[in-house]
Order: sequence, then C-alpha cells, then structure tokens
Amino acid sequence: MKQGVLFLCPTPIGNLEDITLRVLRILREVDLIAAEDTRHTRKLLAHYDIHTSMVSYREHNRHQMGRHLLNLLSAGQKIALVSDAGMPGISDPGEELVSLAVAHGIPVVPLPGPNAALAALVASGLPTSSFCFEGFLPAAAGTRRRKLEDLKGERRTIIFYEAPHRLLESLTDMLNIFGERQVAIARELTKKYEEIWRGTLSQALEHFRLNPPRGEFTLVVAGAREGDVPGARDEFWQGLSPKEHVVLLQARGMDRKEAIREVARQRGMPRRDVYNQVVRDRDDED
Ligand code: SAM
Repeated sequence: MKQGVLFLCPTPIGNLEDITLRVLRILREVDLIAAEDTRHTRKLLAHYDIHTSMVSYREHNRHQMGRHLLNLLSAGQKIALVSDAGMPGISDPGEELVSLAVAHGIPVVPLPGPNAALAALVASGLPTSSFCFEGFLPAAAGTRRRKLEDLKGERRTIIFYEAPHRLLESLTDMLNIFGERQVAIARELTKKYEEIWRGTLSQALEHFRLNPPRGEFTLVVAGAREGDVPGARDEFWQGLSPKEHVVLLQARGMDRKEAIREVARQRGMPRRDVYNQVVRDRDDED
C-alpha cells in the first residue's frame, strides 16, 4: 500500500531566493500542498512555476482541515505543509497537524530552511550556545507582564516574535521587569529594509519612539546575569520612593494609572497606598 508522508517545507521569510532546491522539488512532487495563506503561497508557486494543488490549512479551519488532511495521509497521499513564511510549526498552526500525524503513525519529514528566530539569533551578537524561544508575548498587558516576570531569571538568550504595534509596550514591560539588558531587534530580515538594531532596552525604547516601528520584528534579549536572578539583587527601584518609582515608569512610557498599578505589583503594595502617596505628595507640592 502507498505510504502517506507529511513534508514540512520552509518557505522564504521575505527574499524569494531563500528556498532550497529540495523544498522546490518536494512542492512539485507531492499530491497536495497545505498552505496557511494560499494567496501568499500562490505567488511563491507562480514564481517557481509549480502547479501542485493547494488547500488552506490555517488557524480558523485547523480542526476540520486537520482531520481531512489526516484522512488523505492515511490513504497514502504525500502532503507538503507550508506556513505563511518560514518554518512550518513555529508560531503557526502547523504544530497541531504534525502532532496529529505523529499520533497516527504518519511519517513526518522536516526540510531545513528559513526561520526568523534563528536568523535573528545568529546575527544578534548575544550568546547562541544556549537560548530559548518564546514566540509572541500575550497581547493583554497583565498576562504579558506575568509572563515576563516568569522569564526574569532566565539565563539563556531569549527570542520573541513581536507585532510592530506592540513593540514599544513590550520593550517598556521588559525594561521595567528585567531591568536594563542588551537586546538585538531584527526587522524585515532578508527584505529590502532589513535592519538589525543592537543596544540596551532603554536605548531601544528611545530609538523606536523616534522611529515608529514598521514591518516584521524579532527580538533577541540577553539572558539574566548572576545578579539579575530574583532575590539575588536589589530591584532597580530600591532607593526610590513609591512616587519616584511611578514617575520613572511614566518617563518610560506608561500612563499614570498603569504606572501606579505596576508599582503596586512590583513593590507588593496595595494600589490604593501607592495612589495615596502620589496624590499626597502632589498635594504637598501644591
Ligand atoms: N514560522 C515562521 C518562522 O519560522 O519564522 C514564523 C511565523 S510567525 C506567525 C511570524 C512572526 O515571525 C512575525 O510576526 C515576526 O515576529 C517574525 N518574522 C517573520 N518574518 C520576519 C522577518 N522577515 N524579519 C523579522 N521577523 C520576522
């Protein structure tokens, strides 16, 4: 009986030349391509004169289409999985199809190729011997900050994906929670306006406040040093009064309400007490 195979085919993250000869051959030879964004992939296939049939496998149809693809694989079809860009299965629904295939004994063949996280890491100038990948941070401020708190003691270099409209918020939260650290911000890798910005978190904030973020971003943040591990070092705000602490966070981009909430969280104080101190001190000045 014919054996079905799921091929994981990485595609360019910008530059159409970044595709291997083997990926092109597999895309030509398979029975079907399952693509996250068929319009996007159609352009790639047209560029390389590939005419294989395509179906859409994306976040919204992944349960139903996943079962359909599994049936085809079980019936012996060869299927190539392609994400919007880069390595399928990294921050996209591919992960789910792979685990379904593995659970049903379907051979999964990974092909090497482009990936934004690794490209950013190797160019970052930060340690590459040990790193972790966190993908996208949660969009909700509270959950994002809790996630960053959990990562505060992480010693390995940390890689994040980030949307341009959230970049400043995430950098602000990282600075407030991690303290000052080195960061490399890779923008539009492999594309015309490729830029790898390197500096500290506060310099990054200054830079991207002046140059509003546009395009696709991958952040590579230095891991915690010995002294950054929770409990091992004074917090950056020690020596500041709660009011000064609020003013510092406001200077780093938070509005007053957010800064009061964050100061209360960082110092383990009731929010009302922080608020009262800010208001009382202001009244004293009046
Ligand atoms: N599977 C893809 C991979 O292997 O790179 C990642 C998919 S994830 C949905 C898309 C995110 O990757 C973008 O929002 C951005 O954070 C990052 N990214 C993709 N292309 C990039 C590029 N050319 N330059 C910098 N970051 C990029």
